[in-house]
Amino acid sequence: MIELFNVSKQVPSGSETLTILHSLNLTILDGQFISIVGPSGSGKSTLLGLIAGLDAPTAGDIRIDGESIVTMNEDALARLRGKKIGFVFQSFHLIPSLTALEKVLVPMEIAGVSNEPLRARQLLVDVDLTARASHYPSQLSGGEQQRVAIARAFANDPSILLADEPTGNLDSYNGRHIFDLIVEIHQRRSATLILVTHDHNLAEHADRSIALSDGRVVDDRLRLVPSTTENRDIAEVIHS
Ligand code: ADP
Ligand code: MG
Repeated sequence: MIELFNVSKQVPSGSETLTILHSLNLTILDGQFISIVGPSGSGKSTLLGLIAGLDAPTAGDIRIDGESIVTMNEDALARLRGKKIGFVFQSFHLIPSLTALEKVLVPMEIAGVSNEPLRARQLLVDVDLTARASHYPSQLSGGEQQRVAIARAFANDPSILLADEPTGNLDSYNGRHIFDLIVEIHQRRSATLILVTHDHNLAEHADRSIALSDGRVVDDRLRLVPSTTENRDIAEVIHS
């Protein structure tokens, strides 16, 4: 479970203080798919960075599985990320000198995963890149590079996947393929998925869709299938 309690983020801006996020409270249940939408500059990336512990809030508390991350030092945060969190960005952030296979192997070695050659190859199968295992980023299309980034993000078998506009640099065909792939792996591994997107059609597929504007939650809705008790229970937890 991911919990944010009165989380705010401010940065100095000249002689003023700019508030990027205003006192945010949020509970995200394990295994859920949450989409985050909102105009450019509304605080979406800042929010993901805070949840990943890549950035610290100005005030408030963030807990992952009950453990507060705001007081953790860099080493503890890096360990937590290595164990629990995968990140996919809009620009693919791939190291030019590593092949697709090596990119998936490196985080596995860092995380101390067993059987890594076999599991790395399986991840490349999952993203349909077996024929590209020994290719470098410059030899891959945008869609293929993002598939490598997805395989890398899942290499440490994270329970939380954070995806910041992962389809933003792709055409609609490749974007849809990447989206389907992320959702499929999230479901297969029961990982929590928090996906930032500009595409409202994609956002609608989430269990819960949160809209940000000027650093505030302006909409928060569940995709309810009214007859299922499971969804009603989730709704009660979230709105209690
Ligand atoms: P989004 O991802 O929704 O486009 P961001 O979270 O990247 O929005 O940014 C929200 C706002 O905060 C923007 O106006 C951005 O310019 C500003 N911002 C983000 N990080 C910083 C920073 N380190 N210093 C100053 N302003 C920042
Ligand atoms: Mg952003």
